[in-house]
Amino acid sequence: MHSEQLREYGHRMVDFVADYYKTIESFPVLSQVQPGYLHNLLPDSAPDHPETLEQVLDDVKVKILPGVTHWQSPSFFAFYPSNSSVAGFLGDILSTGLGIVGFSWITSPAATELEIIVLDWLAKLLNLPEQFLSKGNGGGVIQGSASESVHVVMTAARDKLVVYSSDQTHSSLQKACQIAGIHPENCRVLKADSSTNYALHPELLQEAIDRDLEDGLIPFFLGANVGTTSSSAVDPLVSLGKIAKSNEMWFHVDAAYAGSACICPEYRQYIDGVETADSFNMNAHKWLLTNFDCSLLWVKDRSALTEAFSTNPEYLKNKASQANLVVDYKDWQIALSRRFRSLKLWMVLRLYGAETLKNYIRNHIKLAKIFEQLVSEDPNFEVITPRIFSLVCFRMILTDDDEKKCNDRNRELLEAVNSSGKLFIIHTALSGKIFLRFSIGAPLTEEKHVKEAWKVIQEKASYLLRK
Ligand code: PLP
Repeated sequence: MHSEQLREYGHRMVDFVADYYKTIESFPVLSQVQPGYLHNLLPDSAPDHPETLEQVLDDVKVKILPGVTHWQSPSFFAFYPSNSSVAGFLGDILSTGLGIVGFSWITSPAATELEIIVLDWLAKLLNLPEQFLSKGNGGGVIQGSASESVHVVMTAARDKLVVYSSDQTHSSLQKACQIAGIHPENCRVLKADSSTNYALHPELLQEAIDRDLEDGLIPFFLGANVGTTSSSAVDPLVSLGKIAKSNEMWFHVDAAYAGSACICPEYRQYIDGVETADSFNMNAHKWLLTNFDCSLLWVKDRSALTEAFSTNPEYLKNKASQANLVVDYKDWQIALSRRFRSLKLWMVLRLYGAETLKNYIRNHIKLAKIFEQLVSEDPNFEVITPRIFSLVCFRMILTDDDEKKCNDRNRELLEAVNSSGKLFIIHTALSGKIFLRFSIGAPLTEEKHVKEAWKVIQEKASYLLRK
């Protein structure tokens, strides 16, 4: 790292990114390129000699940006958000600049200690039970993703055997079972339907556990959701937690998206029951203004993680670790090496403050309410499940009752809307019904973007309905 070159190039790159944000609305939200487009635009092999930053940035503009889907566009309403902010960006620059690899305390004490402190701060913002804080036996750790989080806690819990979740659970749970070596036949995916708004029914869970016990199997892991991926359904944590405890199962709560909303007192109720959980996960990189990646995992008993993940080769030994005086986060995760990710979360919490973050969340939920209202006022559309956070699930309806035709028409609508380049949404299915998801959470989204998006959806729908 040559500091003067960094200063010069760094300024230019910041300018480039700032200009990108200034003009972000001029791009089609969903990249419109065809598969393989880049192959014809770039040379077959790496350059033999250095090129200039201008040349590279020109290529970024002309060749790379057309192949980018603009997740930070205010008209990005697909999946769940993946927030970016000035504070998060700055934290990431600092972290990359320091370039530390903080696997053990000794490799950069500040990296470990800041992570412990900011995860305690955030646990307090979420009003998590004291057992999840670092002063007792628990504590928080930043992972790269919710998928890694569930894998980590499942591996810690794996000595027993059958896994339970609703059929609305994110596929990361299934992947965790595959990685942790749980037999596919021992993954109980329990049906959640419209009678519970797609939340897991405790009675179904109890029945499945009873059957497994009769068959000599050992229930060991329950994955519950606060904000499922398809429709943001919330599982009844209190009842599920009681069942998990009485069967001595590990109880994991996945609040990857909706967890951020629970820093607002009026939404905290959705994680009531988390006191019965062994682990809790939310992605600050989804909806808390923290640039990817920053997935927060708390456990009540950190020794479960360290027993599952500790290694202690000679070359990593040091006085602080040997004396058990410090946290070595390498023993709370899969990889050894780790970035200084707490910096960006710390920057976000300090530069914005909790009140701003709460209002940020509230504003998105307010926009979702507006969108929900627009949908429900239009007789050509219906809202599919009650909206809880900032996701609205809806679909176009047809006058006849032909489910297949209705599904096909909604697929066509999705295609038409997304190929306009004016917004990006995705679809999913519940009980055989294809529907569209309008997920609000991009930091730049304002009411006008929501209304413009709705106009595009209505226009495309009326064209299809006329056809
Ligand atoms: N859990 C839920 C409820 C999600 O919605 C998602 C992603 O959208 C995940 C887990 C996976 O998150 P990650 O990409 O951080 O692994």
